[in-house]
Parts: sequence; structure tokens; C-alpha cells
Amino acid sequence: MKKINVLDTTLRDGEQTPGVSLTLNEKLRIADKLDRIRVNVIEAGSAITSNGEKEAIKSIVKEGYNAEIASFARIVKDDVDAALDCDVDSVHLVVPTSDLHIKEKLKKTRNDVFNQAITMVEYCVDHGLIVELSAEDGSRSDIEFLKKIFHAGVDVGVNRICLCDTVGILTPEKAYDFYSNLSDLTVPFSVHCHNDFGLAVANTIAGIRAGASQFHCTVNGIGERAGNASLEEIVVSLNTLYNDYSTDIQIDQLYNTSKLVSRLTGVYLQPNKAIVGENAFAHESGIHADGVIKNASTYEPIMPEILGRKRKFIMGKHIGVKGLKQRLDDLNIKYNKNQCNEIFNKIKYLGDLGKLITDVDLQAIADEVLEIEEEKKITLKELSIVSGNKVIPTASVKLEINKSDVLIADVGVGPVDAAIGAVKKGISEFANIDLVEYHVDAITGGTDALIDVILKLKLDDEIISARSTQPDIINASVEAYLSGANRLLENREK
Ligand code: MN
Repeated sequence: MKKINVLDTTLRDGEQTPGVSLTLNEKLRIADKLDRIRVNVIEAGSAITSNGEKEAIKSIVKEGYNAEIASFARIVKDDVDAALDCDVDSVHLVVPTSDLHIKEKLKKTRNDVFNQAITMVEYCVDHGLIVELSAEDGSRSDIEFLKKIFHAGVDVGVNRICLCDTVGILTPEKAYDFYSNLSDLTVPFSVHCHNDFGLAVANTIAGIRAGASQFHCTVNGIGERAGNASLEEIVVSLNTLYNDYSTDIQIDQLYNTSKLVSRLTGVYLQPNKAIVGENAFAHESGIHADGVIKNASTYEPIMPEILGRKRKFIMGKHIGVKGLKQRLDDLNIKYNKNQCNEIFNKIKYLGDLGKLITDVDLQAIADEVLEIEEEKKITLKELSIVSGNKVIPTASVKLEINKSDVLIADVGVGPVDAAIGAVKKGISEFANIDLVEYHVDAITGGTDALIDVILKLKLDDEIISARSTQPDIINASVEAYLSGANRLLENREK
């Protein structure tokens, strides 16, 4: 089994994602997580970029992580000096090697670039830096020129080589041939792929098969344009589909790492993203859900638990009887065959109208079919919010609980937090209901959009989902919370 090292560049190439700019603290939190999942090299940024960037790299170095900490540097003395100032372990020293970049971008000749690169490698080596010499736009460069620079670099002390597919134009076949050209080097080499054609992960794996012992990647595949090769996809593919390679990465931490990076960068994931997308382990179709209940491997190539995740069954128009029965059993709802059919038909009808069914909806449908009269324990009578600039967001609510009024207020980080906090406090005498998940979507585009709040609540061992759709985000959140809370209290009594 060949050990493959991971150089994560979420904090450098990933931060170059349009619209992403991380604070020092955010960079530290991501670096900390990367070190904990056992990334081998963290490219912490480019020290020359700004004072803030320099401070962030310095702070990351000071943490004394296990991972090697690298700074990006051009073949420019100021860049390397800035990296040295941060006391990093290594530099990712990047040389543009394609004629297009040399002539059009740098306005130089191959010879200039060659000499400048070797001079800077020597400078780095003299100052005790580990050097990864990297060919920018390598995949559009003359292979003889690349070999010339790489061999000369190795002669003066380069520790690792990297070839970048800067504009993502390789295919897996070309990547394999391209990286095979480096097999006569006496130092290890890295693959660095971009995702312009959605091939970054496939190309990276082809490069590994061609002999690379390290790959560059970012969490969630974030990066310029269509992004970089995604850490989680490569790691899990190597782990599951390629038996000859292994990495140090803690796979069960990949999902929460993805969540952290998505939250801090504000780059949200498409739901069908491999490995870490919200739908990666969700089943709605009746046939699939039935298969997964009998034996998960029927429609799941990886067990979600391995990634620290759980499978989800979504109720909508594709639901099957088996999936429905499973959920009814989970919710402790007793039914006979006819009642089950009736519930099933109602869900299909709502599904055809485009509605997804939460647990609270399902229980309401079941109550209707089973002719159970429900009386709401808690109703909202008044809600008022104070929020603004230099004001602590405060909510006061009047709830009617078991026929008597409860008046309570709370503060929070924002109006929703304050409102949920107040409601929670108001009902705390009856039950301690925890909010375990909160998800909000604006259904239409404008500020007058309908807001869809879906949340999960927990009471003792029971977790249920509830939803509310309204134009006001605070009302929607409180209504969803109360409908879930009413259900949980009802279920506890049963
Ligand atoms: Mn790149």
C-alpha cells in the first residue's frame, strides 16, 4: 500500500474563490481542523498578499501543528522574504512555465524564468526552507523545458516538484501520460488539478497512478473559477475504490470539516455534491428506500457512518410503502393496513403538488386518518422583536400553555436566536426541547421572498423534523419550532 500525502490549499487557492475572504480567526479555525484530520501540508496562504495574511500565517505557524506549514511564493525575493518572516516550514514556489504565461503575463523569455527560478530555489534552500517547486500552467508547457527546470531545481536542493493543471484542461488519460514524464525525478512529486471540466478529481487520481506521492486539494473543492480537486472526494475514492493507496486523513471527520469550511467561507454546497452534499445519503424513491432498509449496500456504495454521517429518508412523491411504514414505526404511530394505504395516498397526493413531507406533516396526516383529535398544548399569542444596530437583539413572547399565559423574554445573537430562545425558556417548565438542526431557504429571489424554515427538535430520545413557510423569517422559525414542540409533547404523553 502506497502512502499518499495531502497538501491542502483551502487557505490559499481555496481563499481565491470569488467572494471569499477569511479573517485571521477563521483561517486559524480551518487550519486547526485540517491539522486534526491529519493533512500533511497546510498551504496557509501567500505571505506577500497583505499584512493581515502575514499575521494569519504567523499565527498558524505559532500553533505548532503536526502538519508542515507552507506559504505560496512567486520566484521573487520579496515573496520568499515575506514567507521567511512568517517562519513557515516550506514554500510552494511557483514558476510560470508555459510560453503563454512567460510571454504574455511576465513579458520574459524562458531563459529569464529559468535563471530566476534557480536563483530563488538556491535562496530558499540557503534559508532552510523546504522547497516544493511548482510549474504553473504546467499542463500547457513544453515538457522538455519543464524537465530542464525541474532537474536543475533538484540539483540545487528542491525537495518536491509539482505540476499544475492551472486551467483544468487535462483528461485522466492525458494526466496519466503527463505525470508519468516525472518518474525519472529523484524527488517526490505532486499533482495540482483544477476543475474547469469537472475532471479535477479524476485527473488527480490518474496523476497518483502515474507515480505522484502527494496531491493538492481544497475542502469542498473550492477555488478560483470552478475550483480545485476536492479533498474529500479524492480521499474517500482512494480509500474505497483504490486498494493500493492510503492517506492519513481521518475520514470520519470529513463531513464536519466540509460543514465548517462551507460555513466560514459562505460557499454553500450543491446538495448532490459527492461525499459531503446533503443528499449524498438521502433516499426518497420507494424502490431505493426499500432496498436500503433491507440491506444498505443495495443503493449505498459507502456507509454514511464511515464519514460521520447518517442516512436520511425523505418523504415525498417517490416514497414507497416500506419506507413509509418504517417512518411511522419510528414515530410510534399505530395503524392498520387500510389506514396505512390512506396515509400513503395522501403523501403521494401532496408529493405530486411538489411538497416534501416533514415528520410533523406526517403525524398530522396520520392523526387525520386515524381520527385522533389533537389539541395544541402551546400556542403563540404575541411575539415582538427588537433588533438593529448597537441593540442587543431581544424577543418577548406570550405563549398560552395548557390554557394559561406565559410571558417571557430573551436575548440572542440575532432576532431568530432571541425569539427561539424566548420560546424555549417559556416552555422549559414543561419540557427541555433542543434545537438540533436549523435550515433556512429563501424560496424566491427578492427580499419579499417566502422563507422556508426546516428544523429538527429533540426531546429525550425523540428527534422530529418540522417546517414553516412564511414571508417573515422570525415567524417562520417560531411557528416551525412550536409545531415541532407540540408534536414532541403530544408524543411524550402517548
Ligand atoms: Mn491552483
